[in-house]
Amino acid sequence: MPIFSERSRSILHTCDPRLLKIFVAVVTVFDCTVVSGHRGSHEQEDLFRRGLTKVRYPFSKHNSSPSLAVDVYPYPIDWKDRDRFHYFAGFVMATAESLSYPLIWGGDWDKDWQVRDNVFDDLGHFELIG
Ligand SMILES: [Zn+2]
Repeated sequence: MPIFSERSRSILHTCDPRLLKIFVAVVTVFDCTVVSGHRGSHEQEDLFRRGLTKVRYPFSKHNSSPSLAVDVYPYPIDWKDRDRFHYFAGFVMATAESLSYPLIWGGDWDKDWQVRDNVFDDLGHFELIG
């Protein structure tokens, strides 16, 4: 059974308890790594300058404390394997729905369950609604 690394666990603990519950359940089945939870102004603005986020501080759900968003990638990470990111996201979304904590995924911002109309892919990003 996969478990989170110490690093993943510490990042996940900067997140809302609902995200913690979802991903603790996910990792028991689908191995994954947590790369970003709460972000302060310096980190958010740095990502914005590098074009890695469309949102400036403090408007990202990553900027709440605890964070209402988390970036988690299927492990081991293979950027060329887009299908696996989709497979992982489907698993995360189903787990979240089963816990009654629906999420928005960065591969389907408008949550219409279609992926080809997505304007900005952030395939490891998951955020709580509201
Ligand atoms: Zn994110």
